[in-house]
Amino acid sequence: MYSIAIHGGAGAVSRQSLSAERERQYRDGLAAALDAGYAILEKGGSSLDAVTAAVHTLEDDPLFNSGRGAALTCDGAAELDAAVMEGRQLRAGAVAAVRHVRNPIELARRVMEKSRHVLLVGSGAEEFALEEGLPLVPNAWFRTEERRAQLESERSGRPVSDLIPSSQGTVGAVAIDSAGDLAAATSTGGMTNKRQGRVGDSPIIGAGTYAKNGVCAVSATGHGEYFIRCVAAHHICAAVEHRGCSLQEAVHELLHEKLRELGGTGGVIAIDRSGRIVSDFSTEGMFRGARDSSGSRQIDIYR
Ligand code: ASP
Repeated sequence: MYSIAIHGGAGAVSRQSLSAERERQYRDGLAAALDAGYAILEKGGSSLDAVTAAVHTLEDDPLFNSGRGAALTCDGAAELDAAVMEGRQLRAGAVAAVRHVRNPIELARRVMEKSRHVLLVGSGAEEFALEEGLPLVPNAWFRTEERRAQLESERSGRPVSDLIPSSQGTVGAVAIDSAGDLAAATSTGGMTNKRQGRVGDSPIIGAGTYAKNGVCAVSATGHGEYFIRCVAAHHICAAVEHRGCSLQEAVHELLHEKLRELGGTGGVIAIDRSGRIVSDFSTEGMFRGARDSSGSRQIDIYR
């Protein structure tokens, strides 16, 4: 049994807010990422490679808030965060506030595999990307017209979701491979109009990203400050491991009790040791997909 789930962010996405054409574009983008990850699992590849490939695909798609098409800081730049974790040895790698690394998830993976560290930020992370020979691009490469319009809208006091749905749109993936290894990956441009140097939950191991073999793998999306304060992804894993909760109960408790009590909203995808996938959110919608070796394949946006 192997399976993979992905998300492309949670937010104010309702049926009325997306045109048919726009919805098709999102579905195509999600399907491409889901199938890229699944193809690796199908060939007997690792969950780590599968989640990296799925997130890499979404980073390159300008519709989603990661890599190209990232949300912009208040000074109009793209500043990116990403993390990856594997559940067998609990190895993890993450980067935050990078402005020139074309695929931040690949750099997070290098941090995990080639450095002695877990989290590198800013210029130090970019120096490491240079040493590793990863593609670097001018910041303008990430910035799309839509994200500029969203930033303008936020600056003038109109929340971005009024203008374009999915003002958030972080991406993530969780998977289990045929060896039973779990992995999680998350990548984001953060929140529109954030301060320079602001780091969200995605690259914080245990907040937006976590994986532990025999338990579960989790990738979160939503208002990062709340996910950090709840140590969200680890909270879910700990509830499964130590309190005997089902994955569904653990995700529900986190989103609809813990996070809600603080005033936060968002969504989570998670997968347990038997390959069971849970996707849940407290927003209007969440871009998401799931596929497993029993033949099931699903792409969803709305509730
Ligand atoms: N969680 C991300 C952050 O706060 C944003 C998102 O998921 O939309 O950086």
